[in-house]
Amino acid sequence: MEWFKNFPMAHLTSLGVGGPADLLCKPRTIGEVHEALKYAREHQLPVTVIGYGSNLLVTDKGIRGLVIQLAEHFAKAEAAGTKIRATAGCLLSSLSKLAARHSLTGLEFAVGIPGSLGGAVYMNAGAYGGEIGPLVEEITWVTPDEVGVWKKSEFSYGYRRSRVQEERVIVAEAVIELRPGNQSEILAKMKELQEKRRACQPLDLPSAGSTFKRPPGYYVGPMIEAANLKGYRIGGAEVSTKHAGFIVNTGGATAQDVLALIAHIQKTIKDKFDVDLQPELQIVGEK
Ligand SMILES: Cc1cc2nc3c(=O)[nH]c(=O)nc-3n(C[C@H](O)[C@H](O)[C@H](O)COP(=O)(O)OP(=O)(O)OC[C@H]3O[C@@H](n4cnc5c(N)ncnc54)[C@H](O)[C@@H]3O)c2cc1C
Repeated sequence: MEWFKNFPMAHLTSLGVGGPADLLCKPRTIGEVHEALKYAREHQLPVTVIGYGSNLLVTDKGIRGLVIQLAEHFAKAEAAGTKIRATAGCLLSSLSKLAARHSLTGLEFAVGIPGSLGGAVYMNAGAYGGEIGPLVEEITWVTPDEVGVWKKSEFSYGYRRSRVQEERVIVAEAVIELRPGNQSEILAKMKELQEKRRACQPLDLPSAGSTFKRPPGYYVGPMIEAANLKGYRIGGAEVSTKHAGFIVNTGGATAQDVLALIAHIQKTIKDKFDVDLQPELQIVGEK
């Protein structure tokens, strides 16, 4: 397993901001995840787990303790019948394509989400009416003391939340149950969703996806736009001119710029619409 000291987290997040992690490791097996957790416990290090960092805002001071990354080095998947068994570091987009190759439908919504299976299960990621939670048949998780399995009935989830968040386990593997489908229809759906994304999201600039969760009964982007905040900037952080629900890094943004912009949007929306916006992106690191 590879270990790194003072690793710049800006390199591991899609937003491209954030200070160093004291220690970072990249396990390749469940045994190595366990080993890393035991090391952290022995040395009393707090642990942060990440995937591809596509929903993360790491503070400028960085992350104290150990960061365990489960990404491309922890990515194996196979389809059998209507199920896909995959390890946490698999890209959702790769799993969506694997499903299409096996004429399995249900994962088309995930083709443009730039995160890992582990991050998606943690967040209950979703798009265009689909989400990962209902597809999960089984989850293998790791804590410093054990490796455990949750069956479908034991895995609860809601809008951008899941049991993984409540119990702070590390997702190591999951089984996804799909349905047999028509391959050309599946591919056409994936293409259509990718085009929709390209048309309305600022995919050419670093971001962490939607900044805020959708409050019941409202759409965040149009609300921010109606508050005249499209294009509003603090330092290098900007409310995307393409989709006001995204904050983009126009170059050289700091985490502090992004945090200040989030606070400004929250205050403006509260004053104008009396709505409390909660961040969807996960803020981690020393304050
Ligand atoms: C351009 C863009 C578009 C996006 N579109 C969407 C979208 O349509 N729908 C959507 O839901 N999201 C979207 N996102 C956000 C993001 O891609 C998803 O939330 C994704 O599931 C996060 O996966 P990740 O591997 O990047 O997780 P990270 O950002 O690395 O981590 C996110 C959270 O998950 C936890 N985590 C990560 N891996 C594990 C693990 N193995 N075990 C336990 N916890 C873990 C982390 O601790 C953290 O709290 C988008 C992001 C971008 C940049």
